[in-house]
Amino acid sequence: MSAPVAVRAERLFRFFHADDEEVLALRGVSLEVAAGEWLALTGPSGSGKSTLLACLAGLDEPDGGSVWIAGRRITRRPEAARARLRAQHIGVLYQAGNLLEHLTVAQNVAFARRLARRPRDGDDIAARIAAVGLDGRGAARPGELSGGQAARAALAVALANDPAVLVADEPTGELDELTERAILGLLAARAAAGTAVLVASHSRAVARAADRVLQLRDGGVA
Ligand code: ADP
Ligand code: MG
Repeated sequence: MSAPVAVRAERLFRFFHADDEEVLALRGVSLEVAAGEWLALTGPSGSGKSTLLACLAGLDEPDGGSVWIAGRRITRRPEAARARLRAQHIGVLYQAGNLLEHLTVAQNVAFARRLARRPRDGDDIAARIAAVGLDGRGAARPGELSGGQAARAALAVALANDPAVLVADEPTGELDELTERAILGLLAARAAAGTAVLVASHSRAVARAADRVLQLRDGGVA
């Protein structure tokens, strides 16, 4: 039996307007990603990778088309409803990081769980932090971490609610090779555990590590 579909997008369109210019950032992109599958999104700068991920994660609303996450439609819903679906089902990992600077690593993970209204007794924050290789660093604030440690902490936050889908936009763009390899190893383990992993990246290492590569060009699937 094949794995259930975790992400489904049907004919996504997204337009942007700058003065009289119209940019067609997405022109009818459809895709499906199965639970446990790792999909790499590649394509030149400006091809629509970030726009696509933002629409899939409900951070942006497409001008046309629909997205379903774990069987629930996330498009054409009020922002609050999208945010709730995102908190419960989607982990979001961006290069710039998703860490709140005034909170410790452990507090960042706990905060992400509270946003998804997870019961507190299910929290094993220390185990979650250890799982990304940050054992013992839970009390550190993001500013006290190295770049590689911050990337691991950001991943712990993205995975705080054991999401069905992990969406990452250039997650290793600013990392050294060794750290990139470590993060890719963690993503592979996550996919093996059943999470659908979608990563937009220029990195050849990401494309190699993924199960499947989808190349975008000018807002469409190449
Ligand atoms: P990628 O991530 O592949 O580099 P993007 O999704 O960021 O591509 O951008 C796709 C196209 O949409 C580009 O032409 C970009 O300039 C345009 N674009 C993206 N976001 C906006 C925005 N908020 N306003 C105007 N144009 C945008
Ligand atoms: Mg981008």
